[in-house]
Amino acid sequence: MTTDMGMPPILSPEAADKAVLLAAPRGYCAGVDRAVITVEKALDLYGAPVYVRKQIVHNKHVVSDLESRGAIFVEELDEVPTGATVVFSAHGVSPEVHRQAEERSLKTIDATCPLVTKVHHEAKRFAGEDYDILLIGHAGHEEVEGTAGEAPDHIQLVQSPADVPGIVVRDPKRVAWLSQTTLSVDETLETVAAIRARFPELLDPPSDDICYATQNRQLAVKEIASESDLVIVVGSGNSSNSVRLVEVALEAGAKAAHRVDDASEIDESWLDGVSTVSVTSGASVPEALVQGVLALLAERGYPDAQAVHSAEESLIFALPKELRRDLKAAGRA
Ligand code: SF4
Repeated sequence: MTTDMGMPPILSPEAADKAVLLAAPRGYCAGVDRAVITVEKALDLYGAPVYVRKQIVHNKHVVSDLESRGAIFVEELDEVPTGATVVFSAHGVSPEVHRQAEERSLKTIDATCPLVTKVHHEAKRFAGEDYDILLIGHAGHEEVEGTAGEAPDHIQLVQSPADVPGIVVRDPKRVAWLSQTTLSVDETLETVAAIRARFPELLDPPSDDICYATQNRQLAVKEIASESDLVIVVGSGNSSNSVRLVEVALEAGAKAAHRVDDASEIDESWLDGVSTVSVTSGASVPEALVQGVLALLAERGYPDAQAVHSAEESLIFALPKELRRDLKAAGRA
């Protein structure tokens, strides 16, 4: 379904004035891949049901596929029977959730993305040094709840530059910031600049909190947005990084950009008068869903997609240690 940029395809007459650009990288990141494999292997090893607290990753197709194989998704641990196995999602949990699991004798497998865990460590360190921590992120997002739960007395949420005038800290000289991993890079820089204008001695995190996958997918869509009459972002509505891709595409010059869960959500009228369609997907999206979109575009007379590479990715995370231990004990490592 894709064509390398260096090899122009032979086009049918109706496709000659049309093009499909396919952003790369797109789709699954290392943290999502690890989390999904964790649930799959847990089902194989322990048998169904395996409980999962919250959506393992923010994609409704991934969740319904795992449900069909025996995973049971719950909102909170009181829905999990005592002693059962529960997987914590890629977005991370607060220490209070670990405490509840222990209290209820649950067997836990923590699929928190290591890059989210890194932000938790930063929160604990800044709190240990008694900084007021400004966590840039979206209210109600599971990752933000988990990170804030590491140091609730030290962390306050900042959602945008508009929140900055209202920030109250104990000592303006001891303020640090952290962020959710899946934000818009440009918007976050704006928020940090507004915070720094108020607190010039603001302490930065030791490394980027917005993860490599979020940054690469935003970079990739920026590269093709200005040439695009329409950008289609495949991803679920509760996927922060997918929603950000729509915003980034529009800011980078796309004439229109829409998010869809899959090809069936494409409104045919979006294609009216459109020559160049670009396609990308969020970090929690299986590639099959992107291929479904490309197939629909092909049916509507668009040529094979031309992949536009802006970064290479090779990161892989080891499975959670609890699962590795049990797989090894069962001779299935
Ligand atoms: S989007 Fe980033 S932080 Fe989230 S699971 Fe993927 S790699 Fe980890």
